[in-house]
Amino acid sequence: MSRNAESTAFRSALEVIRAVEPRVADAIGAELTDQRESLKLIASENYASPATLLAMGNWFSDKYAEGTVGRRFYAGCQNVDTVEALAAEHARELFGAAHAYVQPHSGIDANLVAFWAVLADRVESPALKKAQVRQVNDLTEADWFALRRELGNQRMLGMSLDAGGHLTHGFRPNISGKMFDQRSYGTDPSTGLIDYDRVAEAAREFKPLILVGGYSAYPRKVNFRILREIADSVGATFMVDMAHFAGLVAGKVFTGDFDPVPHAHIVTTTTHKSLRGPRGGMVLCQPELADQVDRGCPMVLGGPLPHVMAAKAVALAEARRPDFADYAQRIVDNAQALAEGLLRRGAKLVTGGTDNHLVLIDVSGYGLTGRQAEQALLDSGIVTNRNSVPQDPNGAWYTSGIRVGTPALTTRGLGTAEMDQTAELMHTVLTQTTAGANADGTPSKAKYTLDPALADKIARQATDLLAPHPLYPAVDLT
Ligand SMILES: *Cc1c(COP(=O)(O)O)cnc(C)c1O
Repeated sequence: MSRNAESTAFRSALEVIRAVEPRVADAIGAELTDQRESLKLIASENYASPATLLAMGNWFSDKYAEGTVGRRFYAGCQNVDTVEALAAEHARELFGAAHAYVQPHSGIDANLVAFWAVLADRVESPALKKAQVRQVNDLTEADWFALRRELGNQRMLGMSLDAGGHLTHGFRPNISGKMFDQRSYGTDPSTGLIDYDRVAEAAREFKPLILVGGYSAYPRKVNFRILREIADSVGATFMVDMAHFAGLVAGKVFTGDFDPVPHAHIVTTTTHKSLRGPRGGMVLCQPELADQVDRGCPMVLGGPLPHVMAAKAVALAEARRPDFADYAQRIVDNAQALAEGLLRRGAKLVTGGTDNHLVLIDVSGYGLTGRQAEQALLDSGIVTNRNSVPQDPNGAWYTSGIRVGTPALTTRGLGTAEMDQTAELMHTVLTQTTAGANADGTPSKAKYTLDPALADKIARQATDLLAPHPLYPAVDLT
């Protein structure tokens, strides 16, 4: 295939769009320019391949395909069957999973599918049993009442939000926190690491139905073998949400005790973070949960997105190639180089470093809130996101942390030397930014000052750092 094919494909697509609504074509073009010019350190983002992106832009989008491969509620799904079966096969092979369900539209949806599967599998509910064998019409009002009472208020134990857990692991702003009686385990205040003895203690006291492992902002490996032992000791189902680090599992950086797939009963993930696929989700599980997981649509999901499943098949095929393991290792090498560069210049890092794809900087050391730091970095062409740190005094809105990750820049081809330069740029911005004050003289958690000339200079240096590593090098829209 000529590199030219990619240019032609995207150029032609934009031409077709431009003829209908030129402002959309312009916005798509502008997005490429912006992504090319900014130093993207958002830990949950990446750049999918042109093949993955193109697999989404077609008539698969027009198809309804509720049900599963070979068992659809709509006619004419033979080609959807092909791509869904392929995506599931690649997922099973890549992760060594017994079963893969590739329909979830996002990570949150994958978690909802998993929660439902575990509830349906584990909760003793005669009314639910009746309903599952499709005697729905035989159910009385009392049966339905019992079903709701029996399934509601089950217990979930997950990692606390401010230690790096995710909203969907039973926290109030998400439906999981309203469905489940939740308790959380945190990290050791002195080391910032998960204290497995404390997790075991919490499990013994609370007796959760589901023990959840996985995180969005914890910069270390998690020992899933130990978590499984804890789950077994209290009869909990062990679920791991690997949304952030699926790419490191796929690339065999996380193996043995650190690979969730052999240890968990059920694993959920996104496909667009370190895994570098299309925006979407996925559930992997042991055989006994497969039937319940496959009820995801229409139980909790809308109709599957065949175009996205096609793109999942493409991206998972890419992740099975040997160069993906090399990519995954470089993600971690880069995160460690970035952490070392920051530490050497005096930054304070949660846990003092990283062994995955992300680094959590405690910016209180610079006299800033996460919000001030995030904006000052953005002014300087460095895209990050603010994030709570454990026991954060500034709450979830202003925060005291900045989370940075290397999957995207590693895709562009940046290496450890550039990570050290990135650390230098970030450190300069953070030391040169000063916290502002409110009108009444009290310290502001949002206002800050940073010399615009310095911000411009850093932004130019960031662009220079990126110049040798063009994003989508074969795509020329001019
Ligand atoms: C990103 C993330 C999700 C949510 O993924 P969406 O695709 O945005 O719904 C769920 N769980 C964890 C741990 C995540 O990091």
